[in-house]
Amino acid sequence: MHSFRYTQGELFAENVSLQSLAEQHGTPLYVYSKATITGHFTRLDAALGQLDHLICYAVKANSNLAVLSTIAKLGGGFDIVSAGELYRVIKAGGDASKCTFAGVGKTRDEIVYALEQGVYCINAESEAELRYINQVAGEIGKKAPVAVRVNPNVDAKTHAKITTGKSENKFGIEFENILEVYGRVAAEMPNLQIKGLQMHIGSQLTSVDPFVEAVKKVVPLVQEVKDKYGIQFFSIGGGIGINYKQSLDSGDEGWWQENSEVHPLTVQAYAEAVVPHLAPLGLRILCEPGRFMVGNAGVLLTKVLYEKRGAAKTFKIVDAGMNDLIRPTLYEGWHMITPLKQPATDAVEKVDVVGPICETGDFLAQNREIPLVNEGDYLAVLSAGAYGFTMASNYNTRPMPAEILVDGDKATVVRERQTLEDVLKGEHIA
Ligand SMILES: *Cc1c(COP(=O)(O)O)cnc(C)c1O
Repeated sequence: MHSFRYTQGELFAENVSLQSLAEQHGTPLYVYSKATITGHFTRLDAALGQLDHLICYAVKANSNLAVLSTIAKLGGGFDIVSAGELYRVIKAGGDASKCTFAGVGKTRDEIVYALEQGVYCINAESEAELRYINQVAGEIGKKAPVAVRVNPNVDAKTHAKITTGKSENKFGIEFENILEVYGRVAAEMPNLQIKGLQMHIGSQLTSVDPFVEAVKKVVPLVQEVKDKYGIQFFSIGGGIGINYKQSLDSGDEGWWQENSEVHPLTVQAYAEAVVPHLAPLGLRILCEPGRFMVGNAGVLLTKVLYEKRGAAKTFKIVDAGMNDLIRPTLYEGWHMITPLKQPATDAVEKVDVVGPICETGDFLAQNREIPLVNEGDYLAVLSAGAYGFTMASNYNTRPMPAEILVDGDKATVVRERQTLEDVLKGEHIA
């Protein structure tokens, strides 16, 4: 589901013309739809309604304060992976007591900050980390709520760079060792309170099967840990995939059924498949969606600067680069690209859409048929709301783009475009 449509010949986000935003605020420009984010949260919340559950939005997907505030107001919790993300959540009005702290490499300062702010749980990914949290908690006179992340060794059938639940991945503790580890926590780490069990097998899963396989494998273990240590929650992680080949006409989840090429996971299918396995546990279930919540809620607007017709290819050189959106080159991510002015004909041209960065890997699309566009025209790169701005960098000393949140007919600049002064801030000549 999303709120991007052609209306009267122009692409709109809700009731706001993207062409007008591009002209007013310049490009590259990220634009998010609040209604889309709210819709996704509400539908997932309803689908899990049968369970005692908490949606902990994975902040790393899109950590803009306005996005976090939207989710906090809906009652959401947050999955954070750094002290910085916790700081953002608190600044956005989120509740630390609804935050779970994940990640393999938490530092002392981060652990102290999380405990002082009173996070719901710290999800540990190794025994060394558990021992360290125990030590730090003791030193500051706190009892740390912890869960262990289990690596269920299940193939999520997604891109290698976003597979996290296989034995060869750095994440979590082996399924076979979990009970022993909890035993040692209970016996030897007095400053820890065993609060739950967590897993997260990967991102952009487009089939429900790996989720079901993992849940079926881990639920008996959760039951055992519950019986022995009286835990409160089981977190099933995030990973719900989105439809990157969305339709601008219908925008609903049903569209994929007409298109044999793509099979995005619907929340209904997801919930129907996992809830029956989870309900008998009688535990609070945490779900940590990132991409699902914001992926289709954001677009990246860019301007065509030049056209270059080479011997082998035609290049459309645009003003957004891999520093603004790294997914195409890092994950072989496919983003639909469409002009802000609705094309008058169905004519298309096969091009590479490339950025200004001095890297061969700097492209937004390769060998892609897109409608005919000229220099000066604007394009929207769709489904760029997740792992877009949050992975942007200042590479090539390019300022970070501005971000806008649309709510009905209102558009708010929720992050100003960086100036060159901002980019050089804190730098000194020795
Ligand atoms: C990244 C991450 C998520 C979110 O993944 P999505 O695919 O964006 O839903 C959830 N949990 C943990 C622990 C993560 O690291």
